[in-house]
Amino acid sequence: MISFFTVKTKQAEQLIDITGEVSSIISRSSISDGICIIYTAHTTAAITINENADPTVRTDIIKGLNHLDLESVSYRHQEGNSPAHIKSSLIGCSMTVIIHNGRLNMGTWQGIFLCEFDGPRTRNVLVKIL
Ligand code: ZN
Repeated sequence: MISFFTVKTKQAEQLIDITGEVSSIISRSSISDGICIIYTAHTTAAITINENADPTVRTDIIKGLNHLDLESVSYRHQEGNSPAHIKSSLIGCSMTVIIHNGRLNMGTWQGIFLCEFDGPRTRNVLVKIL
């Protein structure tokens, strides 16, 4: 089973909590024990898991990535968004989560995030349950 949903990002750089969307897809599936792959087919976005209790963590992740000073490099890519491509590769475009008893087997403070690095845009998130 494969599902997808879209996320309209609102800022140039933003981490959006998509845990609820992924959980509802798992709830609608018939699989109670397995794995779930969350994937985004974009080159300037990413998927990560991190703290979703304190919203300053997600803004600090963006702040920390920007401390890498990727903007100061002279790139050849003409689109002008090489820092966003690099951040996408650093974070990665997918995560795998264990499904146990019909639920995401994640830590209390963990959430799944779509990372926008070149927004605002409409992003697709694919969810494959095995
Ligand atoms: Zn580009």
